[in-house]
Amino acid sequence: MKRFSDYSLSTYLRCPRKFYYKYIEKVKIEKKSLSISMIFGNIIHNACKDLYILKIEDRTIDNLQKIFRQYWKKSPIRKLFNNLEEERQMGLRGLVMLENFYKSFGTKTPFQIEGYVEYKIGEYVLFGRIDRIDSEEDGSLSIVDYKTGSYNEESDELERELKTVQIRLYAVLLYGNHRIVNNGSFYYYHDNFFDMIEFTEEKIKYDTSFFHEVITDIQFNRDFIIQPSFHCKFCDFFDICQKSDVKMEYLENPTKKFDENF
Ligand code: SF4
Repeated sequence: MKRFSDYSLSTYLRCPRKFYYKYIEKVKIEKKSLSISMIFGNIIHNACKDLYILKIEDRTIDNLQKIFRQYWKKSPIRKLFNNLEEERQMGLRGLVMLENFYKSFGTKTPFQIEGYVEYKIGEYVLFGRIDRIDSEEDGSLSIVDYKTGSYNEESDELERELKTVQIRLYAVLLYGNHRIVNNGSFYYYHDNFFDMIEFTEEKIKYDTSFFHEVITDIQFNRDFIIQPSFHCKFCDFFDICQKSDVKMEYLENPTKKFDENF
């Protein structure tokens, strides 16, 4: 059995070579030091998750911001700012984001938060953890993926396709579990903006076949070509990639097993 997540499939589609380094050669990379934006994102996500642990009558904006402050105090984020003013600005940004979130979701009880979903396709398992699923009045589901960054429109159709792999895979997972999915959104806290994708049964079936093809392509790929893009500057394997020649370990040992849990 081989397992593929939205992240591993996105990685492959963006750059097969990067996929190779990460999941086949399993190149060890130095652990990145925590950045302000990473910790900030976790604090926001955790606060929004914990809101729903409270009783319905306690789910107020004040309590949401209180949870946010508690996470902030406990986290290492404070040590990373250069001065108090920097910290204050970031904290205020967080409070605005939570106000937006509360207006859009605060009083709506979710169907599921950070739920793990998997679906077997052929001899493979696709899986993902979905930030939020809401149930609509007609019983259909809406997928939400929270984004703490700012919304930027994609430069072209290909970039759009790549960006939406995550949500499209989630729709396939839920549909595979006999759920009706009408739409999925990236929700941008700061812009209070839903970047929505509508789904039909045909579209989800098409995406199911698409992901199956991608997995088949991975299994038979012997080149894992480089696919340079603006993402290279964020790539953990940039240095290795620059120094590598085309002949890789995998070409010498094509029967090497894939990681069981991509
Ligand atoms: S540096 Fe660019 S081309 Fe090389 S592996 Fe990373 S994403 Fe791919």
